[in-house]
Amino acid sequence: MKHYTRRNFGKLATTGFFGAAVFGSVQLAMGLNKGNETKKLGVALVGLGSYSTYQLAPALVQTEYCYLAGIVTGTKEKEAAWANKYNIPKKNIYNYENFDAIANNDDIDIVYVVLPNSMHADFSIRAAKAGKHVICEKPMAVSVEECDAIMAACKKADVKLSVGYRMQSDPYTQEVKKYVREKTFGDVHFVSSDAAYISRGNPDQWRLKKKLSGGGALLNMGVYAIQTSIYGVGENPTSVSAQEFSTRPEYFKDTDETITAQFTFNNGAVAHMMTSHNANGNRLKVHCSNGWFELDPAHNYGPINGRTSKGNTISFPYQSQQALQMDDFARHILLGTKNVAPGEMGKRDMIIAEAIYASIVNGGKTQPLNLGTMGIVS
Ligand code: NAD
Repeated sequence: MKHYTRRNFGKLATTGFFGAAVFGSVQLAMGLNKGNETKKLGVALVGLGSYSTYQLAPALVQTEYCYLAGIVTGTKEKEAAWANKYNIPKKNIYNYENFDAIANNDDIDIVYVVLPNSMHADFSIRAAKAGKHVICEKPMAVSVEECDAIMAACKKADVKLSVGYRMQSDPYTQEVKKYVREKTFGDVHFVSSDAAYISRGNPDQWRLKKKLSGGGALLNMGVYAIQTSIYGVGENPTSVSAQEFSTRPEYFKDTDETITAQFTFNNGAVAHMMTSHNANGNRLKVHCSNGWFELDPAHNYGPINGRTSKGNTISFPYQSQQALQMDDFARHILLGTKNVAPGEMGKRDMIIAEAIYASIVNGGKTQPLNLGTMGIVS
């Protein structure tokens, strides 16, 4: 059987080069090599902050289809610590300046951008130009224009793109989507979601600086509430109106603190969301014609919890959302399975975020949304 290097293996599968019969032999190769790390896709994490350190890197030890192959960091001291902990060879360690040389490194198949939001577009585009598949953390970027640029770069380079929406790989999200699709509790009439926490940290952190974050609570936790509003109803909204509140203006000088928004939908449902950096909230409740179901907590790393009007709980064994998410993307590359969080989904959410900000600027004026089925993954 022909030997494929990790890199061209992923690329050939991506470009549809394999016919169905050959593709079968690739799956067989995967099966025969199950447990053999050399067949996994290599991931390089860009930005070794909190999320990479405490969630993504530990998850990459659990993944079946990908592993931590490289790092990109601006902090020299992190290089040796990460190299030792995760057995990363020196040749797979980059900084922000020499990052583009990653193009010549066949160990790296996927570049995962985990930097402050305003840096997502630059590094995602550079990763695509280097011929690497891209996972871009949420929010996908800080404007719709940047989302378009990322998507165009990935298309041009013929590489796959996904947004770091871990909830899209979580079994609780699949269950919500199933209830909505199968009308388990009847038609959805109203969805309420909160995604919020109280920020007490360093007032100089990048999340509070618009230049680096692109926005406050809305672009941080708010994207989860936008997402739950959509999969709680089962379609994209047709309009949004929004309000902003500031109760701690001395801390939130540059970015939004608390935002509420209301969505309308073609099917007649309405949704209300709240996001904040100055209140705790972590909940999804879907009110239907014949009952209700809710997740509370709904958006954290797990365990998530759910219950329904039938008196039962929604419960799945704990699994790392990040491991599920990265394996979903690796399988999409290797085996052509669906992309559960494509670029269109990140762009759609940015269109909605921009409409929310536009509504706020215009005193809560309703903003029409013309999204069709953009970013809907069943
Ligand atoms: P963090 O502040 O802990 O880490 C940011 C990293 O970027 C650090 O390594 C820092 O050194 C580096 N960096 C490079 N240039 C920088 C600059 N100019 N200013 C500040 N830092 C700079 O942040 P984080 O919590 O790891 O978040 C990183 C990204 O991951 C964000 O886009 C965030 O939205 C996303 N995130 C997603 C989830 C999720 O559940 N999907 C959870 C947390 C964070």
